[in-house]
Amino acid sequence: MVLSGPGGAGKGTIARILAAADDSISLSVSWTSRDRRSDEADDAYVFVDRAAFEARRDEGGFIEWNEFLGCYYGTPVPGVDDGQVLLLEIDVAGGRQVLQSDPGALCLFVDAPDDDELRRRLVDRGDGAERADARIVEAVRERVEAAGLGYMTVINADLNRAVREVAALIAARLAAKNPR
Ligand code: 5GP
Repeated sequence: MVLSGPGGAGKGTIARILAAADDSISLSVSWTSRDRRSDEADDAYVFVDRAAFEARRDEGGFIEWNEFLGCYYGTPVPGVDDGQVLLLEIDVAGGRQVLQSDPGALCLFVDAPDDDELRRRLVDRGDGAERADARIVEAVRERVEAAGLGYMTVINADLNRAVREVAALIAARLAAKNPR
């Protein structure tokens, strides 16, 4: 399944809570060429330089990849692990690539209640004004692209509620795929 949405909307937090609560959900760790933010764990991404990213990409090592605000991001080819829900926290361009190879993938767009709140969260977590603006412009574009791809939207106004909503959507999709 794919969780997309603007930085600051809370998709990373939701993904981590879900994976911690349910052993059958595993998180894919993306590679990126961007620098680690000071508030980020060492294993939030595999942090590499552009050349290392390009080398892995060119040998077919990513199931999808994209360049976002000047940095590469990609999902490494996963190991086979039947019965696991693999959760990808990626942008909508990546979600499009995943849907091409797996049209049954559940794609959710996690959004903030409104853009003022989004900006506040971005600035709170350390984005400068200019980067926050760029992310909001990108968010506006991504909302439209996500809707066109059939993403469902989850508004993260209250974290616990948003987590419950995402968990319920995963359960419903699994039930539809594996009817008893
Ligand atoms: P950030 O710099 O905020 O960590 O991530 C920027 C954007 O890149 C976010 O929309 C995030 O979801 C997306 N992203 C993170 N990992 C991947 C990935 O592996 N592939 C793609 N396509 N996007 C990613």
